Order: sequence, then structure tokens, then C-alpha cells
Amino acid sequence: MSRARHLQACAGWMLVLPALIRNCTWFGRVEKSFTASGRELLLTVDDGPDPRQTPQILDTLAKAQVRAVFFVIGKNVEAHPSLCRRMVEEGHSVQNHTFSHPSATFWAAGPRRAMEEIESCSVAIQKATGRMPLQFRAPVGMANPFVHLAAESCGLKMTGWSTTGHDGIAHDPGRVVHRIRQGATPGGIVLLHESHLRGMRPGERACTLSTLLNTLKGDGYIFTDRLDAGSA
Ligand SMILES: [Zn+2]
Repeated sequence: MSRARHLQACAGWMLVLPALIRNCTWFGRVEKSFTASGRELLLTVDDGPDPRQTPQILDTLAKAQVRAVFFVIGKNVEAHPSLCRRMVEEGHSVQNHTFSHPSATFWAAGPRRAMEEIESCSVAIQKATGRMPLQFRAPVGMANPFVHLAAESCGLKMTGWSTTGHDGIAHDPGRVVHRIRQGATPGGIVLLHESHLRGMRPGERACTLSTLLNTLKGDGYIFTDRLDAGSA
């Protein structure tokens, strides 16, 4: 490979690589934690709403008196607007997680696609709840410069996370909770999922959530009510 081609390839990777790193801040700000007073955490729940999991998740949160930020998928909001309204009515925050959640390809989205995905999700949330979202989380946390620009022009701040149980794939509750617990620090943003995966029982996500809330409470953590803390 000639020197010029080598440099060209390096420059290409310099642009692509950060888009493949979760919550990467090379192209813009991404909040992954917040300034806590004491052992506070912020709970975020992604990929809903889903009628097989969301109602039980909301019941569990109500029972534990914990409020969460739901990063929802626009097409799910259009399919289940009443679940989205229930989130807001019960004191939770509903935020933007793209319209169709193209997790395999969104890191490579061009300006038009990035804007369409983000804008149409905000419209779906506004229609369902009467509120415009103020935060955006990229699918699997991967975002290129066009995504950062589109989010900014829609008035959205990018929110990441600091600890996750990787429950977007494996969903053994014990392992999910163990992983989140290991990564928990004061001011941390916890990522959980509420999507229904193959082989999962209805309401199974709520069991994981319940175990997580009890475990972290036992460790002396509380979940903050400042639901905009992750967009400061
Ligand atoms: Zn997601």
C-alpha cells in the first residue's frame, strides 16, 4: 500500500472508529453520569414500550416509588401510545431512541437518515404524550457526526450510560443484576431494557428490575427523581 493510500485508510478509520465505540464523545457531548448528592443513580429503560413487559415494569416502579427515564422507539410509541401516556402520568420521563431502532446500521447513517429517525421519534412521542423529548440515546450507543448534528438540531442532548447488564441480548436476571451492580457508582446512569426477547416470559423484565432495585437499595443506593440529571 502506498503512503498516500495508507494515510487515506487511517483517516477513514479515524472517522469510522469513534462511531463504533459506545457513548464515544469524539463527535460531541454524551452524558454518561451526573453530579450526585450521595449514593444516587439515574435509572433508564430502553426500547419500549412493549405490551408484554412495560405494564409490569411500570407496576414494579410504582410499588418501589422509583421514577425512570424511558428511551422509547417511535414505532413502538405509535403502536402503543397509551403505554407511553401511562409512563408520563406516573411521573416518568419519555425520551427519544430513534423511530425504528436500526441498531446494526445507525452508526453509518447519513445526515438525512439520522434526521428522519430522530425527528419522527420526537413527533411520535409528542403525539402520544403532548410532550417533546429533550434527550436522545443512540441505538447501542453508537453515533457518528451526522447523528450528533441531527440530535442537536432537534433540541436533544445525547445521553449515554455508565453501567449495564447487557440485557439487550442475554437476559438471565442474576447475571444482569450482577453486571450492573459491579459498574454502579454514585452519579451513575443505569441502562436496562424493556423489549420482549424470544424465549422470555411476559413480565420477566419486571422480575429483573425488581431484583435490581432491591439489590442496589441494599447497597445503599437511591434512584434520583431528577430525571433530567443525565442531560445536564
Ligand atoms: Zn436500544
